[in-house]
Parts: sequence; structure tokens; C-alpha cells
Amino acid sequence: MIYPEDSIYTSTLEVDLPAIRNNFKVMSDFAAPEVKKLAVIKANGYGLGAVEIARYLDEADCFAVANIGEALELRKSGISKEILVFSSPLPETISLFEKYSITPVISSKEQLALLSKDLPFHIQFDTGMRRFGVLPEQIDAFLNELTRLELSPSGLLTHFANSGDPNDESVYEQLKLFKEICAFFPDTCVRHCANSGAIAFYPETHLDMIRIGVSLYGFQPGETALPDLKTTARWKSKIIHTKPVKKGEGIGYSWTFKAPENGFIGLLPIGYADGLKRELGNQIQARIGDDYLPVVGRVTMDYTTVFSLTPITLGEEVELIGDGENSVYAMAAATRTIPYEIITTIGERRVKRTYRF
Ligand SMILES: *Cc1c(COP(=O)(O)O)cnc(C)c1O
Repeated sequence: MIYPEDSIYTSTLEVDLPAIRNNFKVMSDFAAPEVKKLAVIKANGYGLGAVEIARYLDEADCFAVANIGEALELRKSGISKEILVFSSPLPETISLFEKYSITPVISSKEQLALLSKDLPFHIQFDTGMRRFGVLPEQIDAFLNELTRLELSPSGLLTHFANSGDPNDESVYEQLKLFKEICAFFPDTCVRHCANSGAIAFYPETHLDMIRIGVSLYGFQPGETALPDLKTTARWKSKIIHTKPVKKGEGIGYSWTFKAPENGFIGLLPIGYADGLKRELGNQIQARIGDDYLPVVGRVTMDYTTVFSLTPITLGEEVELIGDGENSVYAMAAATRTIPYEIITTIGERRVKRTYRF
């Protein structure tokens, strides 16, 4: 439901925190109890709300975000656990890492010069992702620089390019290389490389810590089902206008849908400005009660239309994202993308996040 105080919002994303807790446990249970558990809450907790998730998820040993701004938001909201920032620190941001005790992830020997002696830091190695990370051939020079500066890392990491599904040879190759690299460092370093896919499908990657990302939010990382994950978010809105339409009448811009029979349209106050992709017009279903109605015509900036053969009730709740025909997977398939992109692009200005505790 849309609460009275939230009625200024056109829609709500209802986040089920106990479901997130369930998913944290499902992913944690793949690993041994002594393996540390990091919750990845970058991009505002994959769109669901990083602060609320961090406050709720006592089980997490630490958190990771993509950039320093996201880390500061957590610190300023009272989150005191360790926070890793995946993007490398810059000369202009390093003082914030120090001031707020945020753990930087270092990807080059030049970045080492930014660090003070007391700030814990992790080093990322590029074992095949070819994005961040020190390359294997740069390690000698990197180690020399570490010695020269008398710095010692608290953690070591790498990231897999192809871990979303089982049996990818490259995961084993990346892991082997990573372990060879780790051998140059003290045993006290926390070694970690497993994202959701690696956690579920490659137990040998768990090492000292796992990084639980997309599956925390209820999604399988690739094509392989993870049946115990629970749905964590429902995108709801309501019918703000309805009217009869006659057989053959075109609906919305360019009349991309023509009523197949006499029926009714319902208007939802959600559009592509809220992250409902324009190409989803005539592609997905929205749930009203027990029925799924087709989303018809163009998705426009602020409005979207559903069609029904029977009358639609003004004010009725519509679930645009749920766990049936209206799943994130259906939306991702219709736009040839992945669940990650669907959930992280749900608008943050007009879509109110609400939480079930
Ligand atoms: C995003 C990210 C993760 C989490 O990946 P999922 O596939 O969402 O589990 C883990 N590690 C790094 C470095 C990341 O950037």
C-alpha cells in the first residue's frame, strides 16, 4: 500500500529486510563459518537502500561500496563497521579515507604514496578482469615500493570476469594466479575474491572472506537458479486514472498498441524518468490483485498504461515488480539486460523506498 504520508510519491519500492537477511544466510551457508562475510552495498545497496541495509544486517562483518561518497554516507549515518571502497583513492579524496577510517583498495604502486602508515588498506590484483588491479608483471616493482614506504596491506583481492555460472575454466585460472600472488604477502592479509557467483559455484574461491553482492538482493548472478533466495523488493504504484477504450483505438504516443477489444485502460504515474525503461512498452505485465495486466503502448516520461477487458478501479494498487510474471527477470529479459541493471536504475527521486523490518 501507499502510506498517506508517502502519497506525494508516485510509487514505492517496498524492501523486505528479513528477505535480505535470509539471502545473506543462504549465501553465507555456502562458506565455512570462519570465512568472513562482506556485504556489497554499492550503488545505494543495488538501489534498495545502503544505509537501511547496513543498519539492519548485523550479521555482516564488513561492507563494500564503489566510491568514497557512498562510504561517507554510511559513516554519517552511524555505520561503524569496516567499509571497503572498490574504486582507487585519488589525491583529492585520500584525506576523507583517513578522516572517516574508510579502507581504500589500492590498484597501483603510485597510489601507495597516498597512504599514511596507520590506515589499513587492501590491494587489488588484476588476474584477468582487466579493470582495476595491479598486473602480475607489476608485482616486483609494487613490492619494492611497499618495502620502501614501509607499508603492509591488511587485505588482498581480485575479481572474477566469468563467475556467474558453474564450470568456467577462467575462474580456476584467475584463482590460481591470485593464490600465487598472495604467497608474496604475509598470512595475516585477508584474501578475498568470491562474488555471488563464485560463492555459490566455486567453493575453492571462498578463501578468507566472501563478497556477497547481487544475491543478497535475491538474484542469481547468471543463468543458474539459486532456489533459496527470496524476493527482496516490490515496486508498487496505483491507478491514477482510468477510462474505457473501444476496439481498434490506439493508445498513447504513436499508437503502438491498439485495443484488441472494447476494454479499459489504467494509467500509472511511473515512466522512464523513474527507471521504467521505454522499451518495456508492450513487453511486460503488471499485477493488480490476482490478475496480470499487459503494460501497453509506449512507456512515457511520467506515465505508463495497462489494458484490461474488465473495468479498472481508480486508486487500485499495481505491482510493477514482484515475484510472478512481473519479476525483475522478466523485465531484464525484455530489455536484454541483467537484473543488476534493472534494480540499480529504479529512480531515487520519485520512487519512495519503504522498509519491512
Ligand atoms: C560488485 C562487486 C562484487 C559483488 O558482485 P556480485 O556479482 O553482485 O555478487 C564483488 N566484488 C567486487 C570487486 C565488485 O565490484
